[in-house]
Amino acid sequence: SQSPEAPWLSGLNPAQREAVLNLEGPVLILAGAGTGKTRALTARLAQILHTRRAWPSEVLAVTFTNKAAREMRERMERLLGAAEPGGREGLPFLGTFHAIAARMLRRNAGLVGLESSFTILDTDDQQRLMKQVIIEAGLEEKRWPAKQLASVIDRWKNRGLRPDQLEPAAAHEFADGKGTALYARYQERLRALNAADFGDLLLHMLTIFEQHPDVLADYQKRFKYLLVDEYQDTNVAQYLWLKALAGTRHNIACVGDDDQSIYSWRGAEVANILRFEHDFPGARLIRLEQNYRSQSHILAAANGLIAHNRTRLGKTLRTDQGEGEPLQVIGIWDAPEEARQVGDRAERLAREGASLNDMAVLVRAQHQTRVLEERFIAIGLPYKIIGGFRFYERAEIRDALAYLRLIASPNDALAFERIINTPRRGLGDKAMASLHHMARLLDRPLPEAARQLVETDEISPQARRGLKSLLTSLSRWRSEAATTDHAELARIVLEESGYVAMLQADKSPEAAGRLDNLQELTRAMADYPSLVSFLEHVSLVMDNDASDAAEKLTIMTLHAAKGLEFDHVFLPGWEEGLFPSSRALDEGGTAALEEERRLAYVGITRARRTATIFHAANRQVYGQWTASIPSRFIDELPDANVEATNTMAGGASLWRAALGAHDPFGDALATGRSTGRGPGWTRAATAPASRGGPVIQARALPGPSLRPKIDIRPGARVHHQKFGGGTVISVEDDKLEIEFAAAGTRRVVASFVEVVDT
Ligand code: ATP
Ligand code: MG
Repeated sequence: SQSPEAPWLSGLNPAQREAVLNLEGPVLILAGAGTGKTRALTARLAQILHTRRAWPSEVLAVTFTNKAAREMRERMERLLGAAEPGGREGLPFLGTFHAIAARMLRRNAGLVGLESSFTILDTDDQQRLMKQVIIEAGLEEKRWPAKQLASVIDRWKNRGLRPDQLEPAAAHEFADGKGTALYARYQERLRALNAADFGDLLLHMLTIFEQHPDVLADYQKRFKYLLVDEYQDTNVAQYLWLKALAGTRHNIACVGDDDQSIYSWRGAEVANILRFEHDFPGARLIRLEQNYRSQSHILAAANGLIAHNRTRLGKTLRTDQGEGEPLQVIGIWDAPEEARQVGDRAERLAREGASLNDMAVLVRAQHQTRVLEERFIAIGLPYKIIGGFRFYERAEIRDALAYLRLIASPNDALAFERIINTPRRGLGDKAMASLHHMARLLDRPLPEAARQLVETDEISPQARRGLKSLLTSLSRWRSEAATTDHAELARIVLEESGYVAMLQADKSPEAAGRLDNLQELTRAMADYPSLVSFLEHVSLVMDNDASDAAEKLTIMTLHAAKGLEFDHVFLPGWEEGLFPSSRALDEGGTAALEEERRLAYVGITRARRTATIFHAANRQVYGQWTASIPSRFIDELPDANVEATNTMAGGASLWRAALGAHDPFGDALATGRSTGRGPGWTRAATAPASRGGPVIQARALPGPSLRPKIDIRPGARVHHQKFGGGTVISVEDDKLEIEFAAAGTRRVVASFVEVVDT
């Protein structure tokens, strides 16, 4: 029935075709980066729909990000649109695990004691609630932080375990044996609040499948085909959910790459790959070996790096994309210099005709983005940041969302608590404590209790006045919601609540930015058909890319970049302690280090044409300067595929010549100074020497005896143990006045500084 001319089949290699055309029975595609796994999966979806094996609404496709889901939907519509215009019926369940599970749970919420309007808590709300539970249990929150309980409970949920399913011993994972009870209490509280956290979305569905076989049977009947991308990063709960839905039909196709498993910290288990072959006997295993993304230097460099991992299934990869350029490894002085270089290189590529849309800066840690952003803003280089909740995490945005949530779900107690006295309405701590107390006595959600109490004398006249005006406003907005455009409603709410006035009266430098952010929020809302769908989007959204048409350079974390590709990729911060992270070095042993290496592999394999790695000699961590060592991953790249440049070679090599130090790599100042900054940095400082060159130990410097050889003049760049990098302003005998990048102008003793560039 299938036409070999179908556009989604054209150009596919035989192994990909096998993955697309064998629609019955379990399929596992296990292959390296850029081998066309996602493309094959998308073609399979098109094939299923085209051959009418299923309607769109009978297919469930899991992608790794909302963005990937959007892309898959667009690609599918393009492919099918060409073949049969208008031939669609219903929408496929296409999205992340969270998004799909949320959609299912809304339909079945009653079966686990929730209303279908339940709120999805973000991390912040989740922790606030846990804190209440911890305190309620008479524990000291300082000693047993909510954050820690959150991670213990997340771990349990990721393994598909409800409180009643935990082994007794598990209780000891938190608060000396109270863990299970706290988990149970937290779940009770969530239910009372009509709320779920991210982990619940799947866990509740698992519970429903278990306790209501009829519901599961309906879904099994409905979903004729299951498709899963980035399978290596599924956790146990996700696996169980997939397995349940696959039923006995076993029409499930998963694609993945064990070398790109980078979410074990979120409970992902590569073991799911092995489980698949066991649970779905007779699974067709397909390997793809042709890489269509990267030119051969990039691919060879990535392969050489990942070969240092011992726990891997192993695979062969080849490319026909031409040799291309070797990986660039650039040593620079510090992060601002790094940002300058990235900006310059991006601009140069753009001048030569490349699009900014085809370039990305991939960072290991969120904090790296600030300096890059500052530079890009300074030179007017358009960029967008993808990943995380950055925008929606800002206080004013969260306040605005709390108002909107209360309009959509009147009994959202956490939202109510957040804005009850913001702006101030005379509802201080005392009024709040008594409100809480009375809500407990009444056994009602806080907002509902407030509605009852505001008509009584239980609360002070002043608090009553404030509360009354809030409640009146809320019910007015709620009735306006029916007839007012939701973005307009948001504007009205922010005005009438006094929130905007509060910011306008605020003389702090941030206030103006906050007002801009609120503007931006109402702009964003216009992209959604309703308030409810916007709020749903906010709770699920993983990326906040601006949707306007201008070309933009992308900044994102390596974790978020999985599955994506760009012509040109910049990889800043390849230094011991940053990448691999100090956490991986300190705590994790081999497993954690190998996961960091997979992350490096993911980073390099995002590139089609060029990959540029940077390592800085100095980096500010938690406000303190530290000298850094190039990442061991740089050492592990095959020499033949790498071209190393040191942009501060002049000064540093002079300095080295004075010391007689041998450093063939010519990397930046690899001083191993211990700066007392915690175990991560101590460890980083004693890491193996980089790329053949010995690590130069600052403490071992002969120091003063060498000093006369070096002529310190104004303008010289120096490094000081305590104040970091700086430029000499004036010299007076053996005293220097130095403008330090981080510490301002200081007078220091000449023999305590090292000259980096005369
Ligand atoms: P990752 O592991 O990074 O997720 P992947 O295996 O999913 O990679 P894709 O993103 O599907 O790989 O494909 C990589 C690139 O190769 C894409 O640009 C895709 O369009 C292209 N590609 C895939 N298969 C073919 C093919 N048969 N012919 C030409 N190009 C292809
Ligand atoms: Mg992919």
